[in-house]
Amino acid sequence: MPLKIYNTMSGVVEEFIPGGDKKERIADYPTVNMYSCGPTVYSYAHIGNFRTFIFNDLFRRYLKFRGFTVNHAMNITDVDDKTISGALAENVSLKEYTDKYIGIFFDDLRTLNIEPVEHTPRATESIDAMIDLVERLDAKGIVYEKDGSRYFSIKKFGEYGKLSRLDSREIRSGLRYDTDEYEKDDIRDFALWKAGKENEPSWDTPFGKGRPGWHIECSAMVRKVFGTTIDIHTGGVDLIFPHHENEIAQSEAAYGEKFVRYWVHAEHLLVDGSKMSKSKGNFYTLRDLLDKGYSPRAIRYLLVTAHYRKQLNFTLEGLLQAGQALQRIDNLLLRLREITGNSDENLVVKTNSDDFIKKFIESMDDDLNASRGLGIFFEYLHSINSLLDEGRIAKVDAERVFCVLKRIDSVFGFIFFPEETDAGIDAERIEALIDERNRSRREKNFKRSDEIRDILLDEGIVLEDTKDGTRWKKKK
Ligand SMILES: [Zn+2]
Repeated sequence: MPLKIYNTMSGVVEEFIPGGDKKERIADYPTVNMYSCGPTVYSYAHIGNFRTFIFNDLFRRYLKFRGFTVNHAMNITDVDDKTISGALAENVSLKEYTDKYIGIFFDDLRTLNIEPVEHTPRATESIDAMIDLVERLDAKGIVYEKDGSRYFSIKKFGEYGKLSRLDSREIRSGLRYDTDEYEKDDIRDFALWKAGKENEPSWDTPFGKGRPGWHIECSAMVRKVFGTTIDIHTGGVDLIFPHHENEIAQSEAAYGEKFVRYWVHAEHLLVDGSKMSKSKGNFYTLRDLLDKGYSPRAIRYLLVTAHYRKQLNFTLEGLLQAGQALQRIDNLLLRLREITGNSDENLVVKTNSDDFIKKFIESMDDDLNASRGLGIFFEYLHSINSLLDEGRIAKVDAERVFCVLKRIDSVFGFIFFPEETDAGIDAERIEALIDERNRSRREKNFKRSDEIRDILLDEGIVLEDTKDGTRWKKKK
């Protein structure tokens, strides 16, 4: 069974064929080139943003699990209206302003155990690629100038709308489009390059001083990193129109080749059944949730295990349940660690493990159905727990289960493996220090509790306070 994925462009679930030519074996496929729209670094990213970033992470991890090689880029939008006005408001340079939020963003990714991608190009470091793109479009007569800005003329690109399948009446009516920009010839046209304004950062180009429009940033960075057609482009569904539609128009008109083979979009996240908004009080950044005492593992668990094409209703109750599910996994790991002795292998464990891996792959191959994969995962854990109850797990079986869980966690990324921290570490001493720290905190001796945290941190041990108590792990 091959991996299949829903392609927004075709509107159906398709077999995934990187490079465009079908091969007999996954190992024969070329490297998968993947691009994900990254953050605009003007503020803290919120939990809805992280749903998309965790989906990107699940996708790339699963491709690797299946044996593909992945070359993945995620851009950083560090120049746009919001970053510019943020820097002005704080009276700092654009770079100083965005560097701060870039640092916070990467910290958040690490907290959520999101793997680093191979490339993270910044818009402000990709201006050359944008100039190249505008010049190519200009040479083809697709660009026009108004008041010093350069616009893309939609009527010159006949396939406009093929991704979002909006008909031109719907687009023209302004129903789905920002109608405030009167200076354009056609309501659908969009700015490639914006004329320089006072107080705004600008770059010298053959077509005057100015700064990039948002859409051109991604087209230019895809070209800069990959040079040709890419296999996968991901983003949230809110980016399908106009952002991704405009990326296609720019790239395909400029370079005369297919831009992307598979467009893959993650659905919205709702909080308590409605759209997140600051005024409703249901707006959460990652840090808001950590401050409330929820663990990053529970957040990751909740976001990674909902099917990416279904709306996810995020609730604090759901987070609590995620924490409880993780507790069940941790308990099983602890039970398995306690197994000693040299009894013979139980072949039922091998059969159950092989069967589980097979079913997990079937679920994930079916359009990355992680929620079904999770259900099968818990059935497997249940079978192992029952065998433990019956005393039918030998040490060799426990090791097999550990190996299986590690393989699965290379995709899910939310399991905590205490045995990984064994080498050269005195677990008893750490537990004793954690107990002392908890005692100090109860007695409000925060000097001592902070001291203990620092002692452990110096030794590479990170503490994680969760609703279910304090855990520790070795810093990666
Ligand atoms: Zn983008």
